[in-house]
Amino acid sequence: MPEAGRDGAAPVFGRLAIVGLGLIGSSTARGARRYGLADTIVAIDADAAVRARVSELGLADRVTGDAVGGAAEADLVILCVPVGAVGTVAAEIAPHLKPGAILSDVGSVKGSVVAAVMPHLPAGVAFVPGHPVAGTEYSGPDAGFSTLFENRWCILTPPEGTAEAATAQVTRFWEGLGAIVETMSPEHHDLVLAITSHVPHLIAYNIVGTAADLEEVTQSEVIKFSAGGFRDFTRIAASDPTMWRDIFLTNKDAVLEMLGRFNEDLAALARAIRWGDGEALHALFTRTRAIRRGIVAMGQETAEPDFGRRPKVEG
Ligand code: NAP
Repeated sequence: MPEAGRDGAAPVFGRLAIVGLGLIGSSTARGARRYGLADTIVAIDADAAVRARVSELGLADRVTGDAVGGAAEADLVILCVPVGAVGTVAAEIAPHLKPGAILSDVGSVKGSVVAAVMPHLPAGVAFVPGHPVAGTEYSGPDAGFSTLFENRWCILTPPEGTAEAATAQVTRFWEGLGAIVETMSPEHHDLVLAITSHVPHLIAYNIVGTAADLEEVTQSEVIKFSAGGFRDFTRIAASDPTMWRDIFLTNKDAVLEMLGRFNEDLAALARAIRWGDGEALHALFTRTRAIRRGIVAMGQETAEPDFGRRPKVEG
């Protein structure tokens, strides 16, 4: 008898195979089990240490390093490996998927993933690319948790001609994990994410790098006085180096386009500071404050001061 899904619904898939049991893969496995979204969960990872940990944590019914064998009978296969590895993994397993199976992924870039996967897709298998817009700066199977996707967006980018039923089933899966699903083209996804995620990460990596290289300010001073805004950049700049290298290499055009706009606006800000144009600075800072309030109002961020880090005052 299959476990009941979220709100007592039947499981969305019979056999679910997850390739890559890192932060996202292990969170997906945990959520799928907790909310009864699949009858059987197969965990596939090339790394023996990851497999051992996944078994210890009891995240799946079967744990294997054999990607082809593990995915062969699956109804849904989700690739949770870095974007740069998706094409290689798809080339290995896609030809062996059973007719009617759905292949998906969680990569942070979609255009390059679609281009890398589609040539390997056999007839009768649908590809429904996805990107859960949720994460932390931690990696690996221990970093995951079942509620990671709760109230977070998951963007699906089905290529033209994808069976609607396949997209609908993947939508139900992510909704079962608590996500809010939106569908758009891979190109549009990459442009939107370039400005909302990729360029902000690049800025964080850059500012932390610049501070680390400063000769007039010592490393200990950088750490000591980090609460002055720098600390929040260091959280982002601690994100996984492999994942972010791949994101910038695969979303090159959109990132460079948005970086061009960013540089122009930064030059205008520098000019306002140089010429003492307080009005321009105040007008921008007022507009940006409203954007943060909008994000908090949508439930995508806590309204607590200092991200909830500030201790609560008693009485
Ligand atoms: P992660 O914790 O580092 O996990 C990645 C997993 O993939 C690891 O088990 C890793 O094994 C495995 N892997 C790496 N290279 C591989 C290869 N060539 N072949 C097979 N397996 C390989 O990363 P993650 O944060 O879960 O990210 C996974 C995907 O989710 C990425 O595509 C990323 O863009 C996307 N994503 C991430 C976030 C986030 O905030 N982290 C958010 C949304 C989407 P090893 O341990 O042996 O390297």
